[in-house]
Amino acid sequence: MPPQNTKYPGLHPLPPPFVNEYPPIALVIEKKCIACDRCPPLCFYDAIVMEERPAHEYQRTAVVIPENCTGCGLCFEACPVDAFIWIPDKQQPGIHPKPSPPTAEDQDL
Ligand code: SF4
Ligand code: SF4
Repeated sequence: MPPQNTKYPGLHPLPPPFVNEYPPIALVIEKKCIACDRCPPLCFYDAIVMEERPAHEYQRTAVVIPENCTGCGLCFEACPVDAFIWIPDKQQPGIHPKPSPPTAEDQDL
């Protein structure tokens, strides 16, 4: 059974533990990025751009635009140095589970 809150059912690698609370979006760990330029053209949603980073070893890094990321996971496949991680997309409205109302059992505690 696929996780319920992924935006894209083909999500790879396996969804992170928070997937039932928030949809996952990609984030680049900038210090790991070797600025190989593979990932921006691969992303179907134009969610990855290269940015200048003068202090970085490679002077540039890939950056994910969170608003565009669908959590499809393709960039994870493309990156030769595993620079991507999943983070929770806490900006998504209506997907967060509502707290359950207290039960009679809770009120006895
Ligand atoms: S997870 Fe998919 S949509 Fe998000 S940045 Fe990676 S390739 Fe683009
Ligand atoms: S594929 Fe990985 S190393 Fe290459 S630009 Fe993208 S994040 Fe950086």
